[in-house]
Amino acid sequence: MVPTVTLNNGVTMPQLGLGTAGPGDDETRRRVREALSMGYRLIDTAARYGNEVGVGQGIADAGIAREEVFVGTKLRGSDQGYDSTRKALEASLDRLGLDYVDLYLIHWPLPRVDRYVESWRAMADMLAEGKIRAIGVSNFLPDHLDRLAAESAVVPAVNQIELHPWLPQRDQRADDERRGIVTQSWSPLARGGDLPAEPVFTTIGDRYGKTPGQVILRWHVQLGLVPIPKSGNAERLRQNLEVFDFELTDADLAEIDAMEGAQRGSGLDPRTHEEF
Ligand code: NAP
Repeated sequence: MVPTVTLNNGVTMPQLGLGTAGPGDDETRRRVREALSMGYRLIDTAARYGNEVGVGQGIADAGIAREEVFVGTKLRGSDQGYDSTRKALEASLDRLGLDYVDLYLIHWPLPRVDRYVESWRAMADMLAEGKIRAIGVSNFLPDHLDRLAAESAVVPAVNQIELHPWLPQRDQRADDERRGIVTQSWSPLARGGDLPAEPVFTTIGDRYGKTPGQVILRWHVQLGLVPIPKSGNAERLRQNLEVFDFELTDADLAEIDAMEGAQRGSGLDPRTHEEF
């Protein structure tokens, strides 16, 4: 069983979930069903991924009670604005085949477009109407969070940001925590490849009988973060879930912390990045 974290409105969320960016509906359906059968209970998708239909089908295939699965999706840039946000959520619910989502995030702030406050108001209204259990943001910086705080009484429950040992986001993590926001880590494995191949993760993992990927995900969990790794491979999907039966020492954590900046992350900057 994956432990849960409690969000600032009392809703509980599993502390690790499945990322789904990339594959289309059929492959997503397969992955979601497989992940749920293994014990995953948090699924992260987005309107922009174009696979909400597959997510909904995978949940239906798994035959798990709706209330046991925590489903998060995101508002895409082209739908920002009050009325368009309301319509976008309804369209996501239709594609997912659900009556409500557990978490709805603003995918990117798009400061030049300057519609995230209006979008947030629409989300707060739909939260009150019961179509969403918790609302949050993604890729928001302190400036953007300050504006929401000035213009709305609803504090985001979650900020989903790029975060992994090369890009540990210490300042944003502390800022989120101060505001009562849970930080979710996107690309928690830095997209696989070079990060898990760093020798330090093999050295540490060997002490616990764990793989490099499991050591990285355990680091996220011990920092109180909520990683959402993606995998299309059954073995890695299972491994990524089995990170709640060992504990890294302070020395292990310090070794991993020392990797900050060894390589860049995606380089996407929320001040300027635009995707619609
Ligand atoms: P990721 O989860 O860091 O890495 C996924 C890659 O790592 C896949 O290629 C996978 O390959 C490999 N992998 C998975 N488990 C592994 C393990 N145990 N050891 C070694 N390699 C492993 O990257 P991501 O997909 O970019 O991020 C995860 C999720 O975050 C996305 O799917 C999406 O839901 C979310 N996200 C959100 C935003 C945002 O703006 N909010 C942006 C990007 C991503 P195999 O499939 O072959 O296992």
